[in-house]
Amino acid sequence: MGVVAVFNRKGGVGKTTTAVSVASALALAGRRTLLVDLDPQGSAGRSLAIEVEDGRGTSALFASKGRVSVAYTAHPALFRLGVIAADVALGDVEAELLADGRRRARLAAGLERQREHWDVTVIDVPPALGGLSDAALRAADAVLVPVAADFLALDALRSTLAAVRAVEKERGGAYAPLAVLPTFVDRRRATADAVALLHEQFADLLLADGIPRSARFDASALSGVPLALAAPHSAPAIAYAKAAAALAAALDRAPKRAKATRRPTIKRFVRADMREALRRIRRPPAGETG
Ligand code: ADP
Ligand code: MG
Repeated sequence: MGVVAVFNRKGGVGKTTTAVSVASALALAGRRTLLVDLDPQGSAGRSLAIEVEDGRGTSALFASKGRVSVAYTAHPALFRLGVIAADVALGDVEAELLADGRRRARLAAGLERQREHWDVTVIDVPPALGGLSDAALRAADAVLVPVAADFLALDALRSTLAAVRAVEKERGGAYAPLAVLPTFVDRRRATADAVALLHEQFADLLLADGIPRSARFDASALSGVPLALAAPHSAPAIAYAKAAAALAAALDRAPKRAKATRRPTIKRFVRADMREALRRIRRPPAGETG
């Protein structure tokens, strides 16, 4: 079972949308997929219209004798998609993890108990760097970083990759794959510049072409029907299907226990003074003079 953490320290970059869309696409492509909502806000479960009894959601994965309930959506086509939704108690887990760092290993153990039932597990990770996100990175075999194609998101990417690298070093195994996925891609000049910069810096980490900016995502979350079902032939649904296929292929290629390989790309990016590169894409807004 490959465990994929969808992680970015920045909020609003499309983590939840990516976790839900990629998990749905993987399930539709025939993989038994478990989506785990690790964000106490519970957006992933909510955008699939899934309810959970308190104590039986993700918080139970952290309890040694927890009874986790795996829920299914109302859509028969998604019979291969199981969901562990965030429950109220998950909010308390974060505080417990801060009090006792050793408890962070429990998520990996909790997922291990689910292992035989699933081909792939996708974790929607909360943005702030705390106990929950740390537990997710420790439990993961692979990390998917959605990054909004804009100046501030690119600027913040460094701290996200530094966090990934820190856990990778500590546990001594490389994430396979560690992938970056551009999101909110639109036709603006500034976006094109940001995407070009991503290609320049991360050619070997980019998962796919990127996900277009589309109002359909909001509508889909509101209706509880993933876009892969509601509008499978729309550009944003196709973009996520492609990203999911690339992720599945990368997981299949990944060695059983990846060695802690050197990651020159990240090292370069984390260390480099990105100011110059970012300055190039930081232009005054149109209409401004001087
Ligand atoms: P995060 O989990 O990183 O905070 P979300 O996935 O919740 O980000 O996305 C934040 C908001 O942006 C949500 O309202 C979501 O529907 C919307 N959104 C996500 N991806 C896109 C996209 N590609 N185009 C337009 N809106 C998007
Ligand atoms: Mg989210």
